[in-house]
Parts: sequence; structure tokens; C-alpha cells
Amino acid sequence: MGICKYCSKESPVISQKIGYCVDCIRDHLGLIKSRVMKIHLELRAAHGLPPEPPHTPGGIECDYCINQCEIGEGETGYCGFRTNRGGQLENPLGGLLDWYYDPLPTNCVASWVCPGGSRAGYPDYSNTDGPEIGSKNIAVFYRSCTFDCLFCQNWHFKESTGSKVTPQQLADHVDDRTNCICYFGGDPASQITHAISASKQAREKKEMLRICWETNGSVSRPYLRKMLDLSLESGGCIKFDLKAYHEELNLALCGISNKNTLENFAYLAEFVDKRPNPPLLIASTPLIPGYMDDKEIKAIAAFIASLNPNIPYSVLGFYPCYYLDDLPSTSKQHAKHAREIAEGEGLTNVHIGNWNMLGRENY
Ligand code: SF4
Ligand code: SF4
Repeated sequence: MGICKYCSKESPVISQKIGYCVDCIRDHLGLIKSRVMKIHLELRAAHGLPPEPPHTPGGIECDYCINQCEIGEGETGYCGFRTNRGGQLENPLGGLLDWYYDPLPTNCVASWVCPGGSRAGYPDYSNTDGPEIGSKNIAVFYRSCTFDCLFCQNWHFKESTGSKVTPQQLADHVDDRTNCICYFGGDPASQITHAISASKQAREKKEMLRICWETNGSVSRPYLRKMLDLSLESGGCIKFDLKAYHEELNLALCGISNKNTLENFAYLAEFVDKRPNPPLLIASTPLIPGYMDDKEIKAIAAFIASLNPNIPYSVLGFYPCYYLDDLPSTSKQHAKHAREIAEGEGLTNVHIGNWNMLGRENY
């Protein structure tokens, strides 16, 4: 139980660190925006990241994502990865990442509907009529991000640099037992040319190799199109984290608009019927207590259903971390209720992810 600093109403769950309830963020962000965005500015400064996407006159434009940074000499883009040194964007193809082999079936957001963890895609995109036990995924964690989520579960990447791995070096790790590559992070949008190049080289090494993505959907459309082509032809999938539906809430929680995310999702939905098995597009939403309420889930589910009700949707457990460490873990009741709401909006394939880490206590 807490009090919203704007409407002074008691809310069953509210982050005192944010200070505002979800209704006030959705309905009155214009009035409280400077105070909410100050949270992002301070967090980003602590990690040496630019406070906002730079738009320096005469700077070099980066077209990778929604932020469309114009980066002046010596400056870094919002993601912290692309830097203007001597009039050139540094490391256009050198990735900053961690990678590891992940035995299949993995705990991927989509493994309940993909060839790695289910019967999907057999025999065209998998040689196993069931989970691909004994095979592996290459998980590629990019250490940079185009959003600034207050609930980031992988925020530690902001505190160290990782290693530089070229696309060819990454592709060289594909062996006979590697069936898929999944790019996540951070977000692959900020290093998208690296991922595309690595994928093409990896696909030359092995024919049955799926290319998958886990993203906030901020990538620019021309690169999304390349991601789409790679996943469509390889039997891979694109997993969009729809963190909020209302732009105000996305801005407050993630620092950046979700306009591009929703438009990109709608664009990809047009291709879903081109390759229904395994599913091309999967949506997920982290259930942040107090903020991912009925109204938000209903709006997200209605949006997905309006595009194609058969798109798989996974509601995910949140646990207290990073800035939002003053909220409880998602309760089982919250997750079950969210699933009911999503099904009520017409979605035919709704899943609760991370069941084991959901909390017992309701709020
Ligand atoms: S990837 Fe996005 S955030 Fe990073 S420099 Fe380019 S436009 Fe800016
Ligand atoms: S990388 Fe793709 S195919 Fe492999 S387990 Fe994850 S979602 Fe499934």
C-alpha cells in the first residue's frame, strides 16, 4: 500500500521510488514528466550514458533505431555503443557482447512454441519431432540498449564492457549441434548490423540454423525487414517485448516511446500467415505489480488480437531489481488474471512464463 504523490490516492502497489500511480502516469504524464524523467537522467548519468538521444547539429546520424541520434564529435549515442571519433562512428561492425551455448530446450521466451522446445517446425525447420534435446542454441547478449527500463533484469551489462567479437568470430562457433542463434541483451537494435552480418555468415556454415531475436522493437524499419527475412527463411522467430501499450507508461518506465515498437509489431504481423509453423512472431509482457494493470494488459491483448489472434503471447514474471527494487515479485494470481484478460480479448495462445519464480503473496 502506498500513496501517489500526484492524486494522493492509496494504491495497493506503488513504487515509492517512482512516486506516482499507473493512472496518473497514463493520464497526467505531461504534468509530472520532468520529475519522472529525472529518474532516468540520474540513473543514466551514474552509468556514464547520455541523458537523452543526442541531436547535435552537424553530428553523424545513426539510423539503427527509433532514437535516430545525431552524434557529435566525441559523443556517444543513447545506447552507449555508437561513438563519433574523428568524424566516424566507431565499431560499426565490431560487436560488444557476451555469448554462450545454451542447451536446448532453453528458457527462451518462445521455447513453448518453437522448434527448440516443442514439436513446432518439424520436419522443415527441425530434425526432431519434439524438443531438440542434445542440441544447442547460441545465445548472444549485446551489451548496449536503446531503451532505459527501470525494471531491467539484465542491467549489470551497464557496469562493464564485455568483449569485442566480430561477426565472423561469432559465426565460427556454429557447429553440428547448433540449431539456433538468439540475439538479445540489452537490445540487438543497437548492434543490428553486427547481428545481421553474423547471421548471414553463420547460415552459410549450416543450413538448418534458425535465427531468432528478443527485442524491445525499437529497431528501424529497414533493419527490421532484414531481421524478418532471416527469421522467415530460417524458421526462427521474432520475440517482441511489449512492455506497455500506452505511450505515457512506456516513456515513464522505459525512457523512450513505444510508438515504433507497436508499428513494427503491426508490420510483422502481416507476415505471420506466410509461415505459421513455427510461429514467426511472439509477444511478451513483464507483469510489473501495480503498473501492468488490467487496463494495460487488456489494451496490449486487444492490439495483438486485432492484428492476428493466433500470435502467441506470454505474460512474464517480474522480480524486484535495478531501480524498481521496491516492488514485490509478480504474484501467481496476477499472472493468472492477466492470462484470463488476454484470452478474453480473443488471443488463442496465451502462456504464463517463469511460473516457478512467481510469488505466492497477492497484492
Ligand atoms: S542504435 Fe539507436 S540509440 Fe544507439 S546510436 Fe543508433 S540511433 Fe542512437
Ligand atoms: S533461439 Fe529460437 S528456436 Fe532456439 S530455443 Fe530460442 S526461440 Fe526457440
